[in-house]
Amino acid sequence: RHYSVAAQSQLRELLGQQLSAIKEAGTFKAERIITSSQSTQITVQGSEQRILNFCANNYLGLANNPEIIAYSQQLLERYGAGLSSVRFICGTQDIHKQLEQKIAQFHGREDTILYASCFDANAGIFEAILTPEDAVFSDELNHASIIDGIRLCKAKKQRYKHRDLADLEQQLRSSDARLKLIATDGVFSMDGNIAPLARIVELAKKYNSLVFVDECHATGFFGATGRGTEEYDQVMGQVDIINSTLGKALGGASGGYTTGPAELISFLRQKSRPYLFSNTLPPAVVGVGLKVMDMLLSSSELSQRVQSNTQRFREAMTKAGFTIAGENHPICPVMLGDARLASNFADQMLTRGIYVIGFSYPVVPQGKARIRVQISAAHTEEEIDRAVQAFIEVGRGLKVIN
Ligand code: PLP
Repeated sequence: RHYSVAAQSQLRELLGQQLSAIKEAGTFKAERIITSSQSTQITVQGSEQRILNFCANNYLGLANNPEIIAYSQQLLERYGAGLSSVRFICGTQDIHKQLEQKIAQFHGREDTILYASCFDANAGIFEAILTPEDAVFSDELNHASIIDGIRLCKAKKQRYKHRDLADLEQQLRSSDARLKLIATDGVFSMDGNIAPLARIVELAKKYNSLVFVDECHATGFFGATGRGTEEYDQVMGQVDIINSTLGKALGGASGGYTTGPAELISFLRQKSRPYLFSNTLPPAVVGVGLKVMDMLLSSSELSQRVQSNTQRFREAMTKAGFTIAGENHPICPVMLGDARLASNFADQMLTRGIYVIGFSYPVVPQGKARIRVQISAAHTEEEIDRAVQAFIEVGRGLKVIN
């Protein structure tokens, strides 16, 4: 006992020193406590005032949609709080199968497997399907969960430079692997930029490779009818494997999935560890997914609205003299450079009732701090304009723009 007390104070001291260093570097991430539902207007602890929210992944504004909540409540009552089981032992209900089918229908795929999160979907896929005879080619800026998933597999791991097709081609050409798999985010969430998917698909055909795309920041709202990056880049149906989340545009509750060829999905049900060794998605969460899928299968109005809001914000901010990274995507990173400037800027925006977050190292590279604004279909034009006006006032005060 004496020994473990000593070990624990050693741990506290080691971590305490590192926490102080993080704070000194200005990169400590504090959590702001929200006291309302997720929405374009929220309240936060310590204030009664409603603030305008520009930092959720609530792209379609469905996170507190009354129709979705009512349906989710019905499933909660009828199917219970949860399954207390993994899927294959006694955790699969008819609603889980229905949701898998609807997601497959939405993407035009053969089948879908649900996970507790897209992090799990990414953690489970590479290790399940790739062996030491295979190779995976991964964009260097892929999401952490793809990187972790690839780390778990035994295939040859090759990283290509961010969206660099020449580098990717050179690596594909010199590979003699059995299966080749190119893995990329469809949309990169820190920069709001897009994978060159049509050209990746072309390279994949030329070198007999599979294509895997993480569509967390695209499914439901990106592309003309919200089918994601493959629709945006006009290669619908040509990506082999799509992983995505139910925790962002699709109602914002939680859950992830892989959708693709029937044999792949069947195989993942046999081999994918986060699926085999983790609890089933709860019925209320499945209800959110089902209702959202019904809405998106019958109309693409919301995705059109988020696109026009995005255009309005990007145009006004660029005209005001800000540098907005990315392309046509509701992730609008306002580039500032310095970490302290970004955090100071965000604080001053909050005093004007606008909630935005500064991102700095290690989430983005050193010297590339920014404020990431995320636009929602639920923002009104007046709300977008208010945010732009606040950016202009704070930007002038901090000498970011003239
Ligand atoms: N992939 C990308 C690109 C993401 O942005 C995220 C969420 O942060 C994930 C995967 C993980 O998704 P989930 O929240 O469903 O675990």
